[in-house]
Amino acid sequence: MAGAAAMQVQLGARAREIFDRTGNLAMQPPRRSWFGRVPNSSSTTARRVALTFDDGPSSPSSALMLDTLASLDVRATFFCVGQMVAWYPEIARRAASEGHVIANHSMYHSRRRSLSPWGIDHIESAQDEIERVIGRRPALYRPPWGWTTPWELRRAGRLGLTVVGWSVYPDDWKDPEVPAATTARQIVEGTEPGSIILMHDATSNVKDCAKVESAAAVELAVRQLRADGYEFVALSELLGVEAYLPTRASSTGDL
Ligand SMILES: [Zn+2]
Repeated sequence: MAGAAAMQVQLGARAREIFDRTGNLAMQPPRRSWFGRVPNSSSTTARRVALTFDDGPSSPSSALMLDTLASLDVRATFFCVGQMVAWYPEIARRAASEGHVIANHSMYHSRRRSLSPWGIDHIESAQDEIERVIGRRPALYRPPWGWTTPWELRRAGRLGLTVVGWSVYPDDWKDPEVPAATTARQIVEGTEPGSIILMHDATSNVKDCAKVESAAAVELAVRQLRADGYEFVALSELLGVEAYLPTRASSTGDL
């Protein structure tokens, strides 16, 4: 029985791996363009790039990342999960008050919901939660795992959101963490003018994360890239788009 159970677990893990890999190949923004325009980078020739962080806020990872960004005087963009914002409103408020852009990464980081052709609530309820916490309504959206379907693009568009991908994707998401020097090298080697760098200040749907290598990697990469003449700007600034929409409160007159 133990053998059969182990085999089942193995088969399950293998099936999941194949599902993940196929989905990444078919639907992650940097590899697909046939579903519509999703910016994965800016066409600028200037040495300007944007750091983006997905899946947070979490604790203590996000606070550590905010400390690091503050010490470097870098403005970044956080694609927050609505549920995580509900758990850690004070961290989301701190990020916003320190000049970082808060963007939408869905309510529950659920691929089932984002892949379903029906329903818009997984995007809209995260909009509402973020607005409730920081008083602003995001204009930027990145689907869970970046998996982008035509219907996900269409409903994000209906909500006035710009869907954004990435062009640099280091291994900082791995658990246990890869060493800071490895992640920093991947970022530096992958970066070019207009790059959108994707990192993580949480593991998706894990409330408490202690990612220390990621923060150290950001410090190493920012120092190196600045030495190479790069400037770090918020994603909205890099793309020349608005970071926020009118709030629902203001648009319904419910002030
Ligand atoms: Zn994510």
